Amino acid sequence: MINLAPAIAQIELLLAQNTDASLTYAALECRLAIEGICYERLRIAHDYISHDDLKRWQPRDVVNTLIQEVDSGIAKTFTLSISKEPLQDSSTPPTKEEYQAIEFLPVGKQIGFDPNKFGKLWNALAKVALHITIPVSKDHDVNRYGNKDKIRAKVVEALEEIKRIGEGTLLSTGVGEEVSFECVCGAKNKRRLELLKDLQEISCIRPECSESFTFTKGDKAFNRRVFDVSCKKCGKHREIPIRTLEKLRVDQSINFGCGGCGAKIIICWRPAQLQ
Ligand SMILES: [Zn+2]
Ligand SMILES: [Zn+2]
Repeated sequence: MINLAPAIAQIELLLAQNTDASLTYAALECRLAIEGICYERLRIAHDYISHDDLKRWQPRDVVNTLIQEVDSGIAKTFTLSISKEPLQDSSTPPTKEEYQAIEFLPVGKQIGFDPNKFGKLWNALAKVALHITIPVSKDHDVNRYGNKDKIRAKVVEALEEIKRIGEGTLLSTGVGEEVSFECVCGAKNKRRLELLKDLQEISCIRPECSESFTFTKGDKAFNRRVFDVSCKKCGKHREIPIRTLEKLRVDQSINFGCGGCGAKIIICWRPAQLQ
């Protein structure tokens, strides 16, 4: 887990120095800490989501994507506890009273946050501290730093939130039924069943792999997304991952030798006219 203590100590030191420059730097440290908190949740979730399936990189968007696709509780506060004694095997699950009679030991606590509020704070820090106000007329001065009081207020607000999250001792990717499959590259891909939508496209979690799959809810199957190429000379088929083609720019091409006759095959992404 990310250790927030050094960042907290640094921000406190800069607040104590209380100069224009130190507060500006403190705002930057706060932004980095917020990014660290959000991206750490992404790092532990990477068994469940590919980097390529993140549409946006801003901290708030990353966490919101994780909530939608990996674990609805990834930004919630909870304590995880474990029973001191192993539960007896029985055909009927324990009743509420039996559960309450079990002695539990706490394992750790995840501290949650509101990604949208966090995103606003991250933007506000930049607005007050990391840009100077653009002059709207000749009478406005161009200052070296932003307004000191405003910067200090935002830094104090952010520090409080960073300290609160820093008290967490656990990060979880949640519980719930998992579905998994092995990609042709050998990587095991896992997903939380309840968060998968019918016909959702997912990319392999291995960053250098071009494979992607379409999930069908009815049979819980992941079907490989491929483009079928057949050789015009010998008729041999070859399947190319669709994402390889989707990544091509207009007029860019890929080429390879046919596995049957060795003829060179070129695939190009190009507007075509049909009449
Ligand atoms: Zn793969
Ligand atoms: Zn061929």
